[in-house]
Parts: sequence; structure tokens; C-alpha cells
Amino acid sequence: MRLLLVEDEPTLNLQIATALRAEGYLVETVTQGQDALHLGLEEMFAAAVLDLGLPGLDGLSVLKRWRAHERSLPVLILTARGNWHERVAGIDAGADDYLAKPFHMEELLARLRALIRRSAGQADNFLRCGELRLNLQNHQVFLATQEITLTHHEFLLLACLLRHPGQVVTRSVLNEQIYPLDNERDSNTIEVFIGRLRKKLPEGWIETQRGFGYRLRAPNLPSTSSKTP
Ligand code: CA
Repeated sequence: MRLLLVEDEPTLNLQIATALRAEGYLVETVTQGQDALHLGLEEMFAAAVLDLGLPGLDGLSVLKRWRAHERSLPVLILTARGNWHERVAGIDAGADDYLAKPFHMEELLARLRALIRRSAGQADNFLRCGELRLNLQNHQVFLATQEITLTHHEFLLLACLLRHPGQVVTRSVLNEQIYPLDNERDSNTIEVFIGRLRKKLPEGWIETQRGFGYRLRAPNLPSTSSKTP
């Protein structure tokens, strides 16, 4: 899942990016308002962390322009401590939540999870399909009571498929989950990862739509208990 991080203070930028990457997010970081504006308009992100105090084009203007162009991604704004005017202005401009600096990284992560969850219409931190359950917080995946161990890339792909159960997800969308940069993308690698994922799931869960993409489908069997211990 791709996030956009906009923070001009280098140390804080690195700290937040590191924490987000450790949680499994793909993070694009920028330090300038102009770059943030451009990326937010041109590319798809699951959410953005946006510092309001930026040199040049400020965060509030960036947010207003995203919203004016109907970019509806969830936005968590970072504001200076005690500056309640800024928070009010940010929320009025379309921010979904705010954090005042300094903050605890755990709180930023929890608020982001909540924003992403809400925007996906989920009530908790789990993605589900049939007996398959993926925990977005601790990255554990269970099929009924059996834990399935996945690599980081396999986890990202499965989470993407689980967000669209029963729908075909194109290879290019899956590719974006793993490789945020265009020049790294190679649809053959997706095939390899999907092949590995398939081996870890019961047969028939991942269907191939030839030349197009993949679909996750819980087989419609009365009691698929063969994999359950
Ligand atoms: Ca700043």
C-alpha cells in the first residue's frame, strides 16, 4: 500500500518514513509543497501524511488544491504544537485527522491505520475472505485457525487481492503495490510471487484471468476443512 509523506524536516521525515516502511507501507517522501501537490494529483496513494508548515507552497494550500481537484485520499496533517488555528483550518480544508508535533510514532501509525480502514469501509484491522483473515496491524495471516507464513511481497499482494475479493485485480495494480517506481516494474515477477502465494493457499483460491490479472475467490464448498488442523 502506497503512502505519500510530506515533511520538510529531514530527521523527522526519515523517522516517519522508516516507521511506515517497517509497517509494510510503500512510502514516497517529498519535502516541498510543489512536489507534494504534483504527486498527489498525478499518482494514487492510500493516504498522505502532510506537514502544514512547508517552505514555498504550504501544506494547507496543497491540501486545498488536492480537494479542489477531487482527490479524496485520506490525509493526516501534522501541525505545530498549540496552533489550534492551523488544525481548524486544516480540517476545514479537508484533512481527515491531525497530529500535533511532537507526537509518538505509535499514535501516527494507529491514526493512519484508522484512516485507511475507514476509507476502505472496514470496521477493524482485518481483511477477510471466507476463512482467510489478514491482520493489517501485525501482518499475521490465518486460514481458519492455521497461520500462513508469508514474505513481505506475498503479504502485499494478498492484501491487495483481499481488498477486492471476487474482482479481477490487474497485474499493473499488483505491480504498483510492490514496485512504486515505474522503472522497476516487471509483470513476470508478479507471476512468480502469485505462484508462491498460490502454494500457500488452498487450491483454486487465486484464479488467473489470462493476460489481465488475478482474482481471489474463496471456493464455494460446504466445508473446506481439509486444510484446517
Ligand atoms: Ca515543517
